[in-house]
Amino acid sequence: MAGRKEHGRSGEDNVGPVAGTVYLVGAGPGDPGLLTLRGREILRACDAVVYDRLAATVLPPDLAPEVELHYCGKRAGSHPMPQAEINDLLVRLAREGKSVCRLKGGDPFVFGRGGEEAAVLREAGIPFEVVPGVTAGIAAATYAGIPVTQRGEAVRVCLVTGHEDPTKPDGQVDWKSLGADPHGSVVAYMPVSNLPAIVAEMVAGGLDPQTPAAVIERGTLPGQRTVTAPLGELPDRVEQAGIQPPALFVVGKTVAWRERLAWRDEPPLSGKRVIVTRPADQARRLVAGVRGLGIEPLICSAIRTRPAAESELAPLVADLDRYDWVFFTSENGVRYFFSLLARLDRDVRALGGATG
Ligand code: SAH
Repeated sequence: MAGRKEHGRSGEDNVGPVAGTVYLVGAGPGDPGLLTLRGREILRACDAVVYDRLAATVLPPDLAPEVELHYCGKRAGSHPMPQAEINDLLVRLAREGKSVCRLKGGDPFVFGRGGEEAAVLREAGIPFEVVPGVTAGIAAATYAGIPVTQRGEAVRVCLVTGHEDPTKPDGQVDWKSLGADPHGSVVAYMPVSNLPAIVAEMVAGGLDPQTPAAVIERGTLPGQRTVTAPLGELPDRVEQAGIQPPALFVVGKTVAWRERLAWRDEPPLSGKRVIVTRPADQARRLVAGVRGLGIEPLICSAIRTRPAAESELAPLVADLDRYDWVFFTSENGVRYFFSLLARLDRDVRALGGATG
C-alpha cells in the first residue's frame, strides 16, 4: 500500500505520502481553507488518517472511502483515547505499510503533543514528516480583528497554556511576570476554567485592569464568538456569555484594534447547522458556501447515483441525430452522458443536430 495518488494535486514538487511513513499534519484552527497545501496533499492521498476532535472540520467530505479513519478525540460522555494508545496506533499502522496522516488541530508542535508523538516514532524507527499548521492562537485573534503584534504597542507575543491552575504552588507559568510586561500580547490556550485566577495573577503582577482583553470561542469556525472587555471585567463577561472550549484568551493593547478591524464576526446565519444530503463527491461547493454564511454543515450523504446500463443508453446515443431537443434534468445526467459519449469515442458534436 503505497499511498494513493491524489487527483489534481496542489503541491507541485513534493513527493506524495510514502508507505510506512507517518505525517504529523497541522490542520489549522478549524476553517478548512487554512489547512496548508502540503497538509491537504497528504490528507487526500494517504492510506489512514488518525485525527483529533479539533482537526475534524478539515476532513474533506469526499475523502476516498478506502481511507481508514481513526478518531481519537473525546466522545460524548467519555474520555479521549489515551496518548499511549494513539502512539501504539501510529506505530502499528506504519508497520502495516500504510502512509499515515496524523491530523492535529492548529500546529502539531504548539500545545499539541506532536513532539511526544514524533519522539515515539523516532524511537520505533518509523520515518516521519511534520507539516506545520496555522496555530489557533494567532488565527483566531486574526479572525476576530486582533493583530497579536503591532508597531509601538506589542513588540512580542507570548503563547502560553492556561490549562495549569495558577493557584498551584509548583506551577510553571508565572502569570505575574507576564502581567508585568505592558509591551507584549499574551495569548492563552485552554483558559476557560482558570480565567478568573489568571486575570487576578496578571493584575497582581502589575497589568492595568483596564487593558483591553478578549476571549474568542471557536475561532475561524462557523459560530465564532468574541467577548471583549477591560481585563478586570472579562471573567464575569465570559461567564455571562457562557463561553465554552475551544476558546482562547488574548490580552494586550492591540485587542483594542478589534473595534476598527473586526471583519468576520457573526456571519448572517452564524451558529446554525444544516444537514447536507448531496453525494459526498458533489458536496464540496455547497459545503463551502454554507460555511461562508456561518452555518456548520453536517455531511450525511443520502443519495448515491449511478449511470443507467450502457446497453440501454448506447442505442439512444447512436440515434441522437433524430432528436431536435435534448434535455438534461440534472448535473449527474450531464456527467454520465458525457462520460458515455467519451467511451463510445464520440464528443459534444453528437449534439450538433439538437437545438438545446
Ligand atoms: N495545537 C493547537 C492547540 C491545541 S490545544 C494549535 O496550535 O492551535 C487546544 C486548545 O487550543 C483549545 O483548548 C483552545 O484553547 C485552542 N483552540 C484550538 N482551536 C481553537 C479555535 N478554533 N478557537 C479557539 N481556540 C482554539
